[in-house]
Amino acid sequence: MIQDGQVYNYIAGEWRRSKASEFLDVRNPATAETIVRVPLSSADEVDEAVRAAQAAFDDWRRTPPTDRIQYLFTLKNLLEEHFDEIARLTTQECGKTLAESQGELRRGIENVEVACGIPSLMMGYNAEDIARGIDEHMLRQPLGVVAAITPFNFPGMIPLWFLPYAIACGNCFILKPSEKVPMTMARVFDLIDQLHLPKGVVSVVNGGRETVDALLDHPLVRAISFVGSSPVARYVYGRAAANGKRAQCQGGAKNPVIVLPDADMEMTSTIVADSSFGCAGQRCLASSVAITVGEAEAPFRERIAAVASERTVGNGLDPAIQMGPVINAASQQRIESLIAQGEREGATVLVDGRGAKIAGYEAGHFIRPTLLEGVSPESELARTEIFGPVLSLMHVATIDDAIALVNASPFGNMACLFTSSGAAARKFRYEARAGNIGINVGVAAPMAFFPFSGWKDSFFGDMHAQGRDAVEFYTDKKVVVERWPKEWSRTF
Ligand code: NAD
Repeated sequence: MIQDGQVYNYIAGEWRRSKASEFLDVRNPATAETIVRVPLSSADEVDEAVRAAQAAFDDWRRTPPTDRIQYLFTLKNLLEEHFDEIARLTTQECGKTLAESQGELRRGIENVEVACGIPSLMMGYNAEDIARGIDEHMLRQPLGVVAAITPFNFPGMIPLWFLPYAIACGNCFILKPSEKVPMTMARVFDLIDQLHLPKGVVSVVNGGRETVDALLDHPLVRAISFVGSSPVARYVYGRAAANGKRAQCQGGAKNPVIVLPDADMEMTSTIVADSSFGCAGQRCLASSVAITVGEAEAPFRERIAAVASERTVGNGLDPAIQMGPVINAASQQRIESLIAQGEREGATVLVDGRGAKIAGYEAGHFIRPTLLEGVSPESELARTEIFGPVLSLMHVATIDDAIALVNASPFGNMACLFTSSGAAARKFRYEARAGNIGINVGVAAPMAFFPFSGWKDSFFGDMHAQGRDAVEFYTDKKVVVERWPKEWSRTF
């Protein structure tokens, strides 16, 4: 809920005005206008939400899974009914195009759909006669109060990587959305309010670092799901683990794509451009480095430069636009200075997107697609997550050299190969050290029924978001060993 120009918290089944003393402005990145203020909620407000969740837990876990998922069926229908309205809000606060906002909401809804399978997904297994007259059962039970902390770049989808599975498994769930984009979830929670879930089963506490720390330190919070940059993911993982919590922390990325000479260059350049410049490069699955092998160099460079130059940039609400702004002024400055640093380190700017001015949106934070070549693997540009519409080109002689570059990266979120050779594809799939692999695919985003599998510094934890991993994460396994001697049955 948004009232009096500020986003409210949702605690114990009601909207509450935050008692925070500090607020941040949430700005539309296309116009730089303030659209709402977000509270930096205190540890006391986190405590209220956690206590309400804990109070709801005992009855919620006893509610049969078949009944729990009825709320999710209704949520899916409400999200469908309000689909375009929610997507517009996402574009307003996050900047991406309306089609991209619709796309992310669709992927979020798919997680609601998969979580509706919890009665089957949550089943355990058993074995009779592990010894004479003794049986053994594995049961899954919910953890209790769990929380998720989410980033700015997918305000609709990422909270839905967690919420549906958490509550379907019988947990009570607290969301701390990104303070840069709190409006999408405020609207989604208006719809969740209409579900009439028992009070405390779901909550939203808006805020920043202190709000996160309060969740990480609260003794009643059993598990933390986090998505954001790698330094914060590492910090959250460490602090949650030190406090005895289960944690799954998805971090940043620096995704390479390899282009072999036998790739379909037309298709490859279109797909790579969509991966690098879609969502203004603010996707954890954006390709950031393209490594051409052998004779792929010249044809790929020519086509990708053409596609990058042609991309239309502007307000994401305009249907003619292919790319919106980056999230804020600080991000724009950081991206532009990384491009300048790349030049100083010897790279050549083939397509320069700096200093973009969009008529009617002069205050917006726009950067046009940018392409650099001759980027050295040791340079800052090649190593740092840029999180903007910038693609660096590198060139090597063999596929082995290219895979070595992929594997040298400290990140392992995604790696892609473009080829028409099955043998090359198999070699790459086998040897590349990244958790999400694309073969002739530029954004290898796992569907809701597969885990979102970052590796290395792109993920801290064991069980990933989505699908069966989510069920593992949100349940404790209990093993029961039972003896019922045959002789006892004589009494019946
Ligand atoms: P971020 O790390 O700045 O913030 C993420 C969340 O952490 C926010 O809710 C924020 O309030 C909180 N936070 C920020 N600093 C904190 C601190 N010092 N202590 C405690 N909490 C803190 O990330 P962002 O800029 O919102 O999102 C972009 C990042 O997220 C990129 O690095 C991107 O690659 C990553 N990302 C990863 C995935 C994935 O699946 N691996 C998906 C989406 C985004």
